[in-house]
Amino acid sequence: MIKYSDPDRDHIFGRGYADIIDQYSWDDTIDLVERATSSDVRRVLNKARADRVSLSPEEFAVLISEAAAPYMEEMAQLSRDITAERFGKTISLYVPMYVGNACTNKCVYCGFNHDNQIERVVLTPEQVENECKAIRALGPFENLLIVAGEYPSLCGVNYLENILKVCRPYFHNMTIEVQPMRSADYERLTHAGLNGVVCFQETYHRESYRKYHPKGMKSHFDWRLNGFDRMGEAGVHKIGMGALLGLEDWRGDVVMLARHLRYLQKKYWRSRYSVNFPRMRPSESGFKPKSVISDRELAQLTFAFRIFDHDVDISYSTRESRKFRDNMLSLGVTSMSAGSRTEPGGYSHPSEELEQFEVCDNRSPREVADAIAQRGYQPVWKDWDAIFD
Ligand code: SF4
Repeated sequence: MIKYSDPDRDHIFGRGYADIIDQYSWDDTIDLVERATSSDVRRVLNKARADRVSLSPEEFAVLISEAAAPYMEEMAQLSRDITAERFGKTISLYVPMYVGNACTNKCVYCGFNHDNQIERVVLTPEQVENECKAIRALGPFENLLIVAGEYPSLCGVNYLENILKVCRPYFHNMTIEVQPMRSADYERLTHAGLNGVVCFQETYHRESYRKYHPKGMKSHFDWRLNGFDRMGEAGVHKIGMGALLGLEDWRGDVVMLARHLRYLQKKYWRSRYSVNFPRMRPSESGFKPKSVISDRELAQLTFAFRIFDHDVDISYSTRESRKFRDNMLSLGVTSMSAGSRTEPGGYSHPSEELEQFEVCDNRSPREVADAIAQRGYQPVWKDWDAIFD
């Protein structure tokens, strides 16, 4: 973890996409979406259908506009066809494992906020191994997402390295969703079996970001934003991105996300990318989102993102309802979590009091896999082999 007194602090904060993002004004970005017309939508869809090439972020902005809402059916078909061409009829399944809810940050929307009076837990290696066994008893999962609050002295690189070594015999593909780290730390973890890193910028709106993240290391917008460059520099195989929809105008955030993705793809072309569109859900903090994205709008966003980028993995978590996930699984989504517990130790010792957010799709992994198969798609439990490490 970088110290505030570190002489390299400014140097480290200043490298990467944080130098570029301010070229894009938030207001102009919203304007780009709002001024899109029906004829813009037809032009972009005709190009996408005829050329079968990925689009620019500006063309993507047209497809998430209100002017594109009447073209949902057309967008859904195009998204479905592009996804089937690139990924086949498959849905990759993964499972999250929460290893700690201790956090030094004060994100105002989160139940794990440092100020919240909840029991704090960081799993020991023995408890993590029990979780691994409990997860494997649920289904033949090979894709594990290790999640922890941001508490570097308890859940820092040493702890994560140990945890990855504990989990490695049980899972072929391991991804972490923890505090942003230095490039050297990411590189070190890849030697312990790490394949992917997920990090959400939460919002690309600088001023709102400051308001929602008032204290702790996460309050440094640039440090978090440049974390994706550090992942790319470290050669992380798969980089997961997203914005927490509801903190700001969701359309502005996803256009900013699309620009960020294009930047990373050009600069760190060896890495693969995934996106996730988590919507605000009830939490211990009782936070009320600024904007609410409807099911229909999330579906439009998913179709638009697939048409924008043919290769990105689009992931849906159990925050979404069973009905919505089932309806969307053939229309652009490529991976889903299943059987999730969002509290540390939740697979071996369930306790809803410690959940970070409420799970909406409570089906077992087997039930999710059956629902995928019933729609003519193949549930994929493993899409990475440790032999590639
Ligand atoms: S969102 Fe993450 S960093 Fe923020 S308080 Fe919650 S666990 Fe901590």
